[in-house]
This record gives sequence, structure tokens and C-alpha cells, in this order.
Amino acid sequence: MTALRAPKLPPVFGTDHAEGSSLGKLHHDAEDCRRCDLYRDATQVVFGEGPKDAAVVLVGEQPGDHEDLAGRPFVGPAGRLLDECLHEAEIDRSLCYVTNAVKHFKFELRGKRRLHTRPNAGEIKACAFWLGGELDLIRPSLIVALGATALYSLMGRSVGLTKRRGEVLETVTGTPLLVTIHPSYLLRIRSRGDAAEARRHFISDLEQVKSYLPRQEQ
Ligand code: SF4
Repeated sequence: MTALRAPKLPPVFGTDHAEGSSLGKLHHDAEDCRRCDLYRDATQVVFGEGPKDAAVVLVGEQPGDHEDLAGRPFVGPAGRLLDECLHEAEIDRSLCYVTNAVKHFKFELRGKRRLHTRPNAGEIKACAFWLGGELDLIRPSLIVALGATALYSLMGRSVGLTKRRGEVLETVTGTPLLVTIHPSYLLRIRSRGDAAEARRHFISDLEQVKSYLPRQEQ
């Protein structure tokens, strides 16, 4: 485990995070969020989902087209791939809380298609308010950063994903943070052989999650 300096829990930008008596209350409050402009074009806010006492919180980037329409995180192709990889790593997704660093879909229109666009630093920072609120209520044993946006949000600064991938970083609060890729990366690999190898690597990263789940639930 490698010690890195990180903000206090919530391990996001500063201590300015949402506060509420429950995740449902935070979700409700986030529906009226105007902290950045992404609410304007998105269909709805897509808040996290899962047990309020989850031992593990998986953090992705932002909702995609499917998630935006469904109002639920990780229900599109990348979410299905995440489910498969968690299953192969012998981890029950229903035991984990899944969420995103940014809660509204950012896209650009190409004809009728809505193409995913990466959130910028200001949007990530603005939305860390909600991620911080989720983490503060759940207080997980492990946070998993799925991709560079999540890692940036959780550390409050740029940390090289490629260099840190597969590591469990120790934040100053002691909350371990597992660094890995976002499953959408696997969907973009054209070569079948490379994709299979990348998938194995991702599953091997996820296998580390098991030791943070309650023993009887493994
Ligand atoms: S992306 Fe996050 S910060 Fe921006 S409006 Fe939506 S909920 Fe608020």
C-alpha cells in the first residue's frame, strides 16, 4: 500500500460536501442542483445506487446515454461489462454502492446521436459536493476509482492512472482507494486479443475488492 497525501474524508475537494440524513434525501436534493451547467441538457440527475452500509463504493465518471434516460448508474454497455467482470472476480455488485464522479450526462449532439464528452475539472469539482456527501454517509471500507475522472475527483488533483493502476492508495484518513480503469475503456479496444487481455487485467484489479467485503458476503 502506498501512502499519498489526500484531502480528508470525504476524499474529494475540500470539506464542502452535501449533508443529509439519508442517501435518498441527497438524491432528492441533487435533482435541483445547479452547481454547474450540465443539468441544462441532461434528462435527469443520475445518483448512486446500492446499500447505505456498503463496504465498497465504486465510482465511475458520469452517466452515459442509457443511464441518462434510465436515471440509474451503470445500466448501459459499460455497466453490463462491469457486472460481468465483477461476477468473474466473484464479487456481488448488489453488495457495492455504485455511483459517478459527475451526476449529469455531458454530451455533444452529432445529428441525433448524443456523444459522450468528458467532464472538465470545474464540473468534476462542482459535483464532488455530491460524491463527498455519499461517501460521508456510507463511510466505506474501500473506494474504487474507475478511471481518471473518478481518481481526479477522489484525490482532488491529478494522479497518474497508468502509473497507479492496480494499487490500493492509502488516503490520510485511512480510507483505501483502489485505482483501476473505467470499463468503457475495454469497449473501445478493437483487437479481440488485446480486449481479452485488458479484461483479464481489469478482473485481476477487481479481485482485490473481495478482501474488503464482509466475510460471510463473499
Ligand atoms: S453535474 Fe453535478 S454539480 Fe453539475 S449540475 Fe449536475 S449534479 Fe450539479
